[in-house]
Amino acid sequence: MPPTPTKIKLAAGNNTLGIHWSDGHESAYPYRYLRSKCPCATCEEEAPVEEQAVGGLPILGQKPLHPERAELVGRYALQIYWSDGHSSGIYSFPYLRSLCPCPACTTLREVSDASS
Ligand SMILES: [Zn+2]
Ligand SMILES: [Zn+2]
Repeated sequence: MPPTPTKIKLAAGNNTLGIHWSDGHESAYPYRYLRSKCPCATCEEEAPVEEQAVGGLPILGQKPLHPERAELVGRYALQIYWSDGHSSGIYSFPYLRSLCPCPACTTLREVSDASS
């Protein structure tokens, strides 16, 4: 059984989305990171958001990106409605888990990348 979220917190603080997993693991995803990993076809074609260098002053009036809401899609995925109007990204639970940015998961990923 792959782990599934038992608790999803949209605003877990520090502009992160928090997920508690059924195996006891906790993940905290910065919004921009999550948005840049949007799995929809449109975003896959675009350059990743995080690689667009933003120089100079921040644009006035532009609110920081955040999820307006999130809905469960069946029992396997989460659909996130972003404040920039984008909502076609459906993040499956295994995909979300594979994105977990915590040090333990990052290390695991590096190990499995090296062995494949
Ligand atoms: Zn997208
Ligand atoms: Zn993790």
